[in-house]
Amino acid sequence: MSSEIIKWTSGETRLVFENISDKKDLNFLPDNAIIIIDQNVYAIYQHLVKNHKVLLVNATESIKSLESIQNIYRKFLESGVDKSSVIVGMGGGITCDIAGFASATFYRGTRLVLVPTTLLAMADAAIGGKNGVNFENHKNIIGTIRQPEKIIIDTEFLRTLPEDEIRNGMAEVIKQCIISEEELFNKIDNPGMAENIFKGIFPEDLLKRVVHIKTEIVKADEFENSRRRALNFGHTLGHIIELKQGIKHGESVAIGMMMSLKLSAHMGKCSHDTCLRVNNLLRLYNLPVETFLDISEIVSLLEFDKKKTGNNIQFVFVNDIGKVYDEPIAIDILIKSLLEVFARQV
Ligand code: NAD
Ligand code: ZN
Repeated sequence: MSSEIIKWTSGETRLVFENISDKKDLNFLPDNAIIIIDQNVYAIYQHLVKNHKVLLVNATESIKSLESIQNIYRKFLESGVDKSSVIVGMGGGITCDIAGFASATFYRGTRLVLVPTTLLAMADAAIGGKNGVNFENHKNIIGTIRQPEKIIIDTEFLRTLPEDEIRNGMAEVIKQCIISEEELFNKIDNPGMAENIFKGIFPEDLLKRVVHIKTEIVKADEFENSRRRALNFGHTLGHIIELKQGIKHGESVAIGMMMSLKLSAHMGKCSHDTCLRVNNLLRLYNLPVETFLDISEIVSLLEFDKKKTGNNIQFVFVNDIGKVYDEPIAIDILIKSLLEVFARQV
């Protein structure tokens, strides 16, 4: 077991790496804990929560809604949750997001513990205090930034995670390597490691470094003014592809990253060799690198981007592996450049 305290501007989180999945019970939780748990996780690991109040959720993107949150508040009232209760979110990013939002708003904030059980949630969603629900077709548009008091990461949970979900999480792991460290990028660019990761054997030291990258970026910019925006690499285009093509978040981000790289290369900001290296790494983890959507359909939705201010959009460009930066770009220039790179020849 290892444990460290992360100090944020807004408080502290104890980050614990510990094997809890083979315990008999999560007996370290206080009696007044209520565990919001993904029903698929419950089906496999119910022995862990048998002595606690649980609230099962069916983790689909549609439950990230204000209606579901209201249902959770009702259950909180029925179960006697009060200001001193500990809300535990146990599951993937969806469960962590709704548990985080419910906990941040009920009684204007209750105690929160997160137990991420997907790779995406361990590497990304559970770290950094953001939570959110969707509203009127806008993803994560309502939410708060509030740090949990504890995050417990046990990579053993990944052994039961379906392969599709491993791929999904790997997209964010690869993103974190591209935005920060070439050395880490080279480390995961290894077929033997990919084979193990697909079996659910994820090196804990690697996950620690990936988590560290995210915590350092968030610590430097908890409320997203500048550095935290690098985490959006691949997401501006990725979110549009996710919405229109109906594919998983990680797959869309993989395509979004590849498109941002090709755009960066077209604008002379990075080399084609860098594009090729990322392309090959994404393929190693069975991630898609292009969309079948027409680029005109994608650019028509840039107007609705959350990071838009006036006629500019905040876009993350790449200089090299480990060297990315974001800058505002006029939407019409971005659209023109995207059309130049991706318009299909007829
Ligand atoms: P998810 O929560 O839907 O989980 C994926 C699937 O894996 C689900 O079917 C779930 O039941 C199953 N599952 C979870 N753990 C399992 C385990 N150990 N064994 C077997 N099955 C298991 O998806 P996700 O990819 O973890 O999260 C996606 C969500 O995270 C999105 O809503 C996204 O917006 C959000 N997100 C939030 C942040 C943030 O900073 N708050 C960052 C990135 C993503
Ligand atoms: Zn993401």
